[in-house]
Amino acid sequence: MASRCRCSPLRWRLTPGCICRDERAGMNWIDSLAAPLFVSWQLTRACDLACLHCCTDSAPNKPLADELDADAAMRLAEDIVRHDVPYVMLCGGEPLIVPYFFDIAEYLGRAGVKLKIETNGQRFDAAAAERLKRLPIRSIQISLDGDTQDVYGRQRPGASLAKTHAACRAVRDAGLPLEVTFAPTRMNIHQAEAVIARARDLGAFRFNTGALMRIGRAARLWPRIAPSEADYARFRETLHRQQHIIDDTMQFCHDPFAIEAGLQQSLGSPPATLMVLPNGWVKVVAAIGYVCGDLRRMTLTEVWDSYRAAWRNETVLDAIRRAIAAEAGHADANTWQSIPDEGAVT
Ligand code: SF4
Repeated sequence: MASRCRCSPLRWRLTPGCICRDERAGMNWIDSLAAPLFVSWQLTRACDLACLHCCTDSAPNKPLADELDADAAMRLAEDIVRHDVPYVMLCGGEPLIVPYFFDIAEYLGRAGVKLKIETNGQRFDAAAAERLKRLPIRSIQISLDGDTQDVYGRQRPGASLAKTHAACRAVRDAGLPLEVTFAPTRMNIHQAEAVIARARDLGAFRFNTGALMRIGRAARLWPRIAPSEADYARFRETLHRQQHIIDDTMQFCHDPFAIEAGLQQSLGSPPATLMVLPNGWVKVVAAIGYVCGDLRRMTLTEVWDSYRAAWRNETVLDAIRRAIAAEAGHADANTWQSIPDEGAVT
C-alpha cells in the first residue's frame, strides 16, 4: 500500500524503504517498483493516414516487417495483467486498423487495467464507442490539428475533419472521457484558439499540446512545418489566456512544453513507463533510439529490470543529455539500437 515519503511529503512511495535515501545512493525511485505503472503500446506502425508531422513515420500499408501477431500480442497482454500494470495506452500508428485491437483492449479492460486509446478518429464510430464503454476507459484521445478542412487536411492529407468531429461526438455520446490533442505546425498554429473552443464544445475534459517533436517524418519536413519562435510565443500566450477563461471546464496539459524539458525532468525522476514498439521492442525514451528490451523474448519483469538499469547507464544518460542540448539530434530517434554493453536486441 502506498504511503507518503517522510523526506518529501508530496511524494508517495509504494514499497517500504525511503525513495529519497535510495536516490541519494544512486538509485532512482523506479527501482522500488516491481513493475511499470504505465505501458504505452504501439500496436502497429501502419496508419490510414500519413500526416506531415508524424513522429512514428506511419503511413498506409507500412507496418514493421516483424510486428507482433495476434498470439504474441495476447501473450504480452497476459504478461501485463500478470504484472498488475495499472494503466495501458493503446496507440500506433492507428490502433483501430489492427485486427486484434478489440481483443487486446477487452482482455486488458476486463482484467481491470485502465485504458487510454489514442486514435486519429477517422474510423472511430458509435459501434467502437459502444464496445469500449464497457471497459475501464480513462480516455479516448483524438487529434484535432485544425479547425477547417483546408488546414486540417494540409497537415493530415486525405483525412476528414468531419469524421474526426463525429468521432469526438461518438466518444461523448457513449459517456466516455474525451481528450483532444493538438500538434502545432506552421500550417495550423494560427487556428489554435478555434481548436481549443471546438474541443470544449465537443466536451473534451482535457486539451493536450506542446512543441512539435522533431522525430520521424516531422524531422524530415522540419523546415517546412516547424513553427517559428514568434508562432510559439503567440501560441503560448493563447494557451495561457484560454486556460484562464475555461480552466474549470477543460484541463490544459502543455507542461513541460518542449520534449527537452520533459527529458530534463526524467533525468531527475525517470518515468515508470515502458514504451513498447510494434515488434515488442521497448524504447528507453521517445527522443533517442536506444532499446532496452524485447518482449517477444523476455518477460515483462526482465524488460523492466533492463529499463531501470538503462536509467543508471552512463551511455544512455549521455545520449539523453545530448538530446536535451540539441533538438536536431532527435531526428535519429527512430533508428533503434541496443544499448552498448547491455547485449544486443535483434
Ligand atoms: S500522426 Fe497519428 S494519424 Fe498521423 S500518420 Fe502518424 S500515427 Fe497516423
